[in-house]
Amino acid sequence: MKVLVLNSGSSSVKYQFLEMDGEQVLASGIVERIGNDDAAHTHRIAPGAAPGRPEGAKIQEIVPVLDHIAAIRRVLAALTHPEYGVIQDLREVAAVGHRVVHGGEQFTDSVLVTEEVKEALRSLFDLAPLHNPPNLQGILAAESLLPGVPQVAVFDTAFHSTMPRVAYLYALPYAMYKRHRVRRYGFHGTSHRYVSQRLGELIGNPGLQGMKVITCHLGNGASVCAIRDGKSVDTSMGFTPLEGLIMGTRSGDVDPGALPYIMAREELTISELMSMLNKHSGLRGISGISGDMRQIEEEMLKGDSRAREAFEMFEYRLRKYIGAYAAVLEGLDALVFTGGIGENSVLVRERVCRHLTFLGVELDEEANRQGKGERRISTDRSRVQVWVIPTNEELVIARDTVAIVRSLMSQPVASR
Ligand code: ADP
Repeated sequence: MKVLVLNSGSSSVKYQFLEMDGEQVLASGIVERIGNDDAAHTHRIAPGAAPGRPEGAKIQEIVPVLDHIAAIRRVLAALTHPEYGVIQDLREVAAVGHRVVHGGEQFTDSVLVTEEVKEALRSLFDLAPLHNPPNLQGILAAESLLPGVPQVAVFDTAFHSTMPRVAYLYALPYAMYKRHRVRRYGFHGTSHRYVSQRLGELIGNPGLQGMKVITCHLGNGASVCAIRDGKSVDTSMGFTPLEGLIMGTRSGDVDPGALPYIMAREELTISELMSMLNKHSGLRGISGISGDMRQIEEEMLKGDSRAREAFEMFEYRLRKYIGAYAAVLEGLDALVFTGGIGENSVLVRERVCRHLTFLGVELDEEANRQGKGERRISTDRSRVQVWVIPTNEELVIARDTVAIVRSLMSQPVASR
């Protein structure tokens, strides 16, 4: 069964096309700057996916792309392209899986997209005004271009639906929760779910039964998740993806009392304040250089003091959360690093683990420095296992899509 996975943002559509019998990626790509005359489409055939084609054959074009429909039309054209395609006919696309950022309290699992689901997604626009509208646009565009092909929505929030109330309620007047559903939802759920399940497979305990695990997703956005018996019990992102860790350009935790003060002093509007918190804070805000960790590390190693401070603050906040979640879990059996920084930054992992020996973390410095991809980086003696596990959100979306489509096919026609 071949599945198209779409991640539709406000101005981009990222995609992966997979053969799920064998879980092989066939092609992937991105359409960026949608809505502009100089939108960019990059499409790549995965190595080995199309025998006879040049290895890594790709399309790279700058073209006008008006909207999400036009973008997804290009994606489908690329998949069936005589030179760069991987299928002959669009009928080979068995289903489409969509990343949807916010599932609110309604969606605790992935779902088949129906009219009711689309209506419910619209009702969640207020909760995720930047993300859910383009996610729905992607769904509508795929529906119109692939009529009759099942569409599945997979939510970033769903994995965290198992959090207890003590973890997800804010200490605001209770009416704010009852009336407006202001609570912690958490994000990056698909990634935390993937790496924790993968850890279970790697250590021979698929459900992570009896285990206390902390997963650190450290990319441009970053979050930590406390997992007991395979289920999320707390996570650092909250009502929005702004809470918690210091991120590339997002502040993470700040005293809410500082915000009206800054607004008054700087004469900022709410949208200017939000832009400051989301785009001009974090590593970029502190360093004044960049929100990109690789660049921060480079400048720090050259002696830049603000880059050093940004790095140290990032590591300090992360460690603080790991300590807090070890207390939440009342112990720790495994720590997992993922995301661009978690997978690639030797220095972040080394500095964090150096300060966690009191929890029983003993890093194998050689394994941390050497090697690539999935690996254990703690010593055999370490009481806490430390792992690097590259995330694969697209695979989770494709797996959920296949599971839902298969269960649909096994139902009697009358009840579908
Ligand atoms: P996104 O959250 O947008 O998917 P990624 O997960 O790709 O982003 O993570 C991007 C971050 O990973 C950037 O801060 C980048 O600098 C960082 N990163 C990538 N490679 C390295 C590396 N070798 N060392 C340190 N940081 C790295």
